Amino acid sequence: MSSKQNIIFDVDGVILDYMSSFLDYVNQKYDTTYTFNDANKYDFSTYLPSNVNAEKIYNEYLKTDYISNLKYFKNVKTAVNKLSEHYNIIIMTAISENVKKERLYNIRDINYSEIHFIRDKHLYLKKYNPVCVFEDAPFHIKDYIKVRKQFKLDTEIYVPARPWNINAIQNPDEVIFYTDETIMDIVENLNYG
Ligand SMILES: [Mg+2]
Repeated sequence: MSSKQNIIFDVDGVILDYMSSFLDYVNQKYDTTYTFNDANKYDFSTYLPSNVNAEKIYNEYLKTDYISNLKYFKNVKTAVNKLSEHYNIIIMTAISENVKKERLYNIRDINYSEIHFIRDKHLYLKKYNPVCVFEDAPFHIKDYIKVRKQFKLDTEIYVPARPWNINAIQNPDEVIFYTDETIMDIVENLNYG
């Protein structure tokens, strides 16, 4: 590994808009009309039709072409690739390794150094001691905060403001929220600040 410092990126909800894609799949299957802004809970089961098993449908969704066609959030491709000029980009994705091929295809335009398919992302925080992490899921964020405290790390936690996390972070003062519009300000600051 080079002497560059590390930045950890999550993929779904941070780089790729899997939520819109998943809801498109649900809508065509159940004739519903869910939109991105309806996704106000990280756990989908709370807003799917009550007779739908969220885990089952998620696993079905992973076998469709939807998963190969996820769209980037605005500005994020430029942002990550700019950061890769100065940092090692470490991708941590909790998605199943069954869709590894599709996941690598999804992020083929992203200039990263390593990718890990891992659910317990926080266990890697001390090892990589990153300048910052980008993460959208409330439970991963909670774990990152815990490990950061435990090992007195300086890692900043950047959180894209999404409907499912905006009111769900227990300690909002311990993270930095940003939007698709402000992500380039973070990049400028990290690269040259
Ligand atoms: Mg995520």
